[in-house]
Amino acid sequence: MKFIDMHTHSTFSDGIFSPGELVDYAVKKGLSGIAITDHDTVDGIEEAIERASIHKGFVIVPGVELSTEYNNEEVHILGYMIDYRMEYLLRILKYLQDTRNNRAIKIIDKLKKIGIKINYRDVMKISGDGVIGRPHIARSLIQNGYVRTIENAFTKYLAKGAPAYVPKQKLTPLCAINIIRKAGGFSVIAHPGLLKSKTILNYLIHIGIDGVEVYHSKHTVRQSEKFLKLAQKHNLFITGGSDFHYPPKDGKENGDLGSVKVPLENIMELLK
Ligand code: AMP
Ligand code: FE
Ligand code: FE
Ligand code: ZN
Repeated sequence: MKFIDMHTHSTFSDGIFSPGELVDYAVKKGLSGIAITDHDTVDGIEEAIERASIHKGFVIVPGVELSTEYNNEEVHILGYMIDYRMEYLLRILKYLQDTRNNRAIKIIDKLKKIGIKINYRDVMKISGDGVIGRPHIARSLIQNGYVRTIENAFTKYLAKGAPAYVPKQKLTPLCAINIIRKAGGFSVIAHPGLLKSKTILNYLIHIGIDGVEVYHSKHTVRQSEKFLKLAQKHNLFITGGSDFHYPPKDGKENGDLGSVKVPLENIMELLK
């Protein structure tokens, strides 16, 4: 049976593999396809498609992961099969990327005020071609010896409630769903198991979300069962992915590329 991992990040956002490396790694892991779902950018898709063309039959689903906010909580919405060349979509993503750059500067300023010195240019170097996110600042904090792990950087400095936290500009869920629809794609609620509020899911279903990421590397089996039932009840698409950013340290399987996957056949059915 063939499988696809529907949630991956490349160097175009906060993953450590370039889209080409991601495809090679996926082939090595025995996958038959991946969706490229970088945060707020579609710039990595073309490179992935190009690389996939040398692996016969390997499927790339063009995607994006948009950050939205509802009732003070961050809600990630995945868009699949979007027209990643569409001017309208690119303009909105460009705006979100600009606001991320400004936010990075604010975070670095806040760090400076508490005696932590990292500079914007280093963070830019770490993010490379990519959209800047807190993980890049976390890596710079590690490089400068302030923390040992990305997790530490978040808890100590970058997470909500920590001293250098700066919120990012977010769309509303309705806006994200409409953008994805306008770009010809379908919308899926990402990792619903990470949501604190119980009401958000019903709200998203109410406003027309197309699918649910039932399977995710941070979901428990019980959570996935619950979301599967919910998706079936409301006739929503069922997807799943690892949310791969980098190979897990200490050789763990959970979170690695392909650690969560769905039958390719099911996804191809949706893409028709
Ligand atoms: P940003 O989009 O800049 O707000 O950064 C959010 C990203 O940081 C998420 O997509 C994750 O990849 C990562 N992240 C968020 N919280 C943590 C955490 N506690 N530890 C490690 N990585 C995190
Ligand atoms: Fe991320
Ligand atoms: Fe996410
Ligand atoms: Zn993600």
